[in-house]
Amino acid sequence: MENLVTIDGPTSSGKNSVGFLLAKKLGYQYIDTGMIYRAGCLKMLQENILEQDMDRILEVYRTLDIRFETNDHWKMFLESIDVTDLLHTPEISKLVPVISAIPEVRKIMRGIQKKLGERGHIVMGGRDIGSEIYPDAKYKFFLTAAPEIRAQRRFNQLVQVDPSIRFEDILRDMLDRDHQDRTREASPLRVPKDAFTIDNSNLNVEQTVGEMLRLIDSKNKNDA
Ligand code: C5P
Repeated sequence: MENLVTIDGPTSSGKNSVGFLLAKKLGYQYIDTGMIYRAGCLKMLQENILEQDMDRILEVYRTLDIRFETNDHWKMFLESIDVTDLLHTPEISKLVPVISAIPEVRKIMRGIQKKLGERGHIVMGGRDIGSEIYPDAKYKFFLTAAPEIRAQRRFNQLVQVDPSIRFEDILRDMLDRDHQDRTREASPLRVPKDAFTIDNSNLNVEQTVGEMLRLIDSKNKNDA
């Protein structure tokens, strides 16, 4: 697909800030698929649905009523309510890798992601977007950074909401989640074929986007 950019990578590798800015520069829309998985988990918690209740979990994802707003900030609405700031609680972060490892959930999510991407002009971020959902995307990226740097980024975000949060706990939870995402059977996190890998441990968001635009440009020149 010509006008589709995929960005995969582990937790806090900068996919979302980078994806949002890259989309803005390209005049595309950014879609953070992790937030869709998270929205389903929020709904499960709101309705007291247990991890074992497969029928109800699948029903949640089948009927998920979500919408994005991408003006100045990236916002996510669940059933018309802005839930952007409710999706990164420790409870949801713990539940989401478990739910996202269920093959039937991924199948439903595949349909949602395909529908969202069908109009093109999209930058889509996640874990398996370039490897499973859009392996035919023209521009595929894999972002990564050292675990301590990724944990520090997440810590800086979360400490503003909860000053009692501890860096060591964030790092441990993050390594746990990385491990679950990499070793699960259904669509594990991996570098997509033909993807550009960028380690942005020492790059800020603007520098990372600059590097991506340079790579997009050179690919266009090579393909011309
Ligand atoms: O990107 P974020 O950390 O918000 O994603 C939350 C979780 O959702 C990931 O740890 C992963 O388990 C799952 N996920 C996924 N496939 C995607 C996006 C997210 O499995 N495309």
